[in-house]
Amino acid sequence: TRSLSGKVALVAGGSRGIGAAIVRRLHADGAIVAFTYVSSDAKAAELVKSLATPEGQPLAIKADSADPEAIRQAVEKTVEKFGRLDILVNNAGILIHGMVDDVSVADFDRMVAINVRAVFFAAQVAVKFMGDGGRVITIGSVVADRTGFPGSSIYSMTKSAIAGLTRGLARDLGPRGITVNNVQPGPTATDMTPADASVADKVRSLIALGRLGEDREIAGLVAYLAGPESSFITGSSLTIDGGYLA
Ligand code: NDP
Repeated sequence: TRSLSGKVALVAGGSRGIGAAIVRRLHADGAIVAFTYVSSDAKAAELVKSLATPEGQPLAIKADSADPEAIRQAVEKTVEKFGRLDILVNNAGILIHGMVDDVSVADFDRMVAINVRAVFFAAQVAVKFMGDGGRVITIGSVVADRTGFPGSSIYSMTKSAIAGLTRGLARDLGPRGITVNNVQPGPTATDMTPADASVADKVRSLIALGRLGEDREIAGLVAYLAGPESSFITGSSLTIDGGYLA
C-alpha cells in the first residue's frame, strides 16, 4: 500500500504552482485530495480531470482564503464528501510587491489575511476533525530568514509569522498527536517566481545550486511531512532552498 492510503488531505490553494504539485503528489501517494482555489476555474477543472480514476477524483472547491467563513465551509465540504480529514496543507499565498513608501493598507491587510489569518483559521476548523496522526503543514518561505531583495517587507513579515504560528500550534496540538510544520521554499519556478523573468538570473546567482527549485521538489518534502515517517517532527520550519541561505 502507498504511504497515504486511506488518508484524506485538503490543500488550500491547489490549482497552480507548488499547490498543484502537492495535490498531484499526495494523490500519487494514495491520499484522497480536496483543494481550494480562488480564480483559476479552468486550471482547477483540468487538474481534477487529470487525476480522475474509476474510484473517484479530487474535489476542487472555490473558496477565497481571505474569507475565514469560506475556509470553514471548504474544510466542512471536504469532510462531508470524504468522511474524514487527516492532512491540511496551507499553500495559498500572495506576494504584492511594494517598497516601504508604496505599501497601502489594503495590500498589507490582504497579504496578512491570506498568508497568515487563513492559515490559523483553516487549522482551527481542520483539527476539529483530526485525531492522533493528524498533520498540519504550511508553505512559508525562506524569506522568513532572508528576504534578499527590496520590495517585500510585508510578505517577509507574513512568512516569519508562519514560523511562530507553527511553533505555537505545535504546542497546542502536540497532546492530541497532531503535528504542525512549516515548509520554507527558496525561489521556486512558478507564476509567482517565473524562471524566465529578468530577475531570475540574479536570483539564481544567490542559490548554491545555481537554479530555481521545482514545484515537485517542494511537494516531495510536503509528502514526507504528511506521511507516517515524520511522526517526531513538529513545530519545525524546514528550509528547502537549494542553498539560498548557505
Ligand atoms: P502561485 O501564485 O503560482 O499559486 C498560488 C496558488 O494559491 C494558486 O493555486 C492560487 O489559486 C492560490 N491562491 C492564491 N490566493 C488565494 C486565495 N485568496 N484563496 C484561495 N487560493 C488562493 O504561487 P506559488 O505556487 O509560487 O506559491 C505557493 C506558496 O508557496 C505560497 O504560499 C508562496 O508564498 C510560497 N512560496 C513560493 C515561492 C516561489 O518562489 N514560488 C518561494 C517560497 C514560498 P488561483 O489559481 O485560483 O489564483
